[in-house]
Amino acid sequence: MKLNIRNTFSKELPADKILENNRRQVVGACFSYVTPKKTAKPKVLHVSDEMLAEIGVTKEDAESEEFLHVFTGNTTLKNTHPYAMCYGGHQFGNWAGQLGDGRAINLFEINHNNQQWAIQLKGAGETPYSRTADGLAVLRSSVREHLCSEAMYHLGVPTTRSLSLSLTGDRVLRDIMYNGNAAYEKGAVVCRAAPSFIRFGNFEILAARQDYDTLKKLTDYTIQHFYPEITSEGKQKYLDFLTEVRNRTIEMIVHWQRVGFVHGVMNTDNMSILGLTIDYGPYGWLEDFDTEWTPNTTDAKNRRYRFGNQAYIGMWNLYKLANAIYGLIEETDSLQEILDAYENLYTNKYELMMQEKLGLYQNNHTNLISELEKTLQLTETDYTIFFRNLATVSKLDTVEIAFNKIKKAFYIIEGLTSSVKDTWLHWFEKYRDALQAEKINDTERKLKMNAVNPKYVLRNYMAQLAIDEADDGNYQLINELYEILKKPYAEQPENEKWFAKRPEWAKHKIGCSMLSCSS
Ligand code: AMP
Ligand code: MG
Repeated sequence: MKLNIRNTFSKELPADKILENNRRQVVGACFSYVTPKKTAKPKVLHVSDEMLAEIGVTKEDAESEEFLHVFTGNTTLKNTHPYAMCYGGHQFGNWAGQLGDGRAINLFEINHNNQQWAIQLKGAGETPYSRTADGLAVLRSSVREHLCSEAMYHLGVPTTRSLSLSLTGDRVLRDIMYNGNAAYEKGAVVCRAAPSFIRFGNFEILAARQDYDTLKKLTDYTIQHFYPEITSEGKQKYLDFLTEVRNRTIEMIVHWQRVGFVHGVMNTDNMSILGLTIDYGPYGWLEDFDTEWTPNTTDAKNRRYRFGNQAYIGMWNLYKLANAIYGLIEETDSLQEILDAYENLYTNKYELMMQEKLGLYQNNHTNLISELEKTLQLTETDYTIFFRNLATVSKLDTVEIAFNKIKKAFYIIEGLTSSVKDTWLHWFEKYRDALQAEKINDTERKLKMNAVNPKYVLRNYMAQLAIDEADDGNYQLINELYEILKKPYAEQPENEKWFAKRPEWAKHKIGCSMLSCSS
């Protein structure tokens, strides 16, 4: 296996001088060298063929012993020095101090076709940042991360990627619902990839320690490698940096709202500095459209990270980042201006995105959108099915016909009251007027709508079915879902059974609608 290894992070930024792998506060450094844990009986379950190509590994090489051992952490490639990154974070609104890669280990960086990829194992053992945990990961959360990373990529959502999913052959103890019912599960490792895994929290920890020297190094490094468009200098450079991170964060969250993705744990340590979706934990897909929904049971009380609050949290987190880099700027007004612009920028992007979902390209339709959001919540309505079927509505349809075309999206069709139906007919009247004012014809509009309204997303129960089968040693469904989710906007009539509402059994099942941070 030939890899074009070109390390930048570990080469250009200060390393922890202590090489011992004990849990501790790491100061004056951006990372610590560590060695991944050897696994009992590693087995690769699934490889993303596209990520293989991205990093320049052939399919034959992916089947080699070397691949198996390197990408599960059993062997370290010659001349490479794996490391864990140091970061802090605000968790659920509170400063949590040092967190860091507690179970993520960076192997090396690869440069292929002029693209830089940091290659990281998740679940490969303890690091100085493991705090009270074991540094490991279980099969269920690893299946979820592997499949969802790739699905999000194909949906066009900025995200970290996943190269491979492997069993370690070790057993891992977990108390899934944190209720005293710990049990052993199969251990797994995901090998994930991204241009960089730097988070808001990497900056925050340095600012909290008033280590401005390292903070400057990290910020300059980030700008140089990942924001080459920034050419300004001095304070302006850092202001432009915050502006760009703000824009990328907005972009990412608008995509989440478009496809119905709820991250579940938008702590600042889970916010990528590149505006990528990162750390797939208790995430979930919106099934019935409910802005109050979060899949994360750990957040059930305050619902801080609910679907309808993601945009606000994006801004909240940017405030924390701004505070962290303040030490490099020491001037609040310009920072404040950048943050003040967030709300308008977000709203404009969000409305444009919703209009595209609706197939409306002329005029503004703020009211139509907000009425739709309310109407969708009158009764359980499937977000994905609603928008996909909306594309079949014709300009000349009567409101009754139009309504019938989206009926499949209702969870309990028989239970629709006449007042709910009337509200819908009323909405369709306005929608039809809006459609009729558009120049675009039905056929073209359908094509455009289908390119932004996915037909297939990784519904929570689909991932759970794949996990249940994988637990029994059958990995077929992982592969099947992976293939379907490569073309989420295509009709794929042969896969129609996955274009379906969440089945009743999944409504309150652990792993489907209820997920904890246990992983
Ligand atoms: P998360 O909630 O997964 O974003 O994790 C928050 C912090 O806890 C990060 O520093 C993780 O690296 C760490 N962490 C999560 N799970 C484990 C684990 N099993 N072992 C060690 N550290 C972990
Ligand atoms: Mg995390």
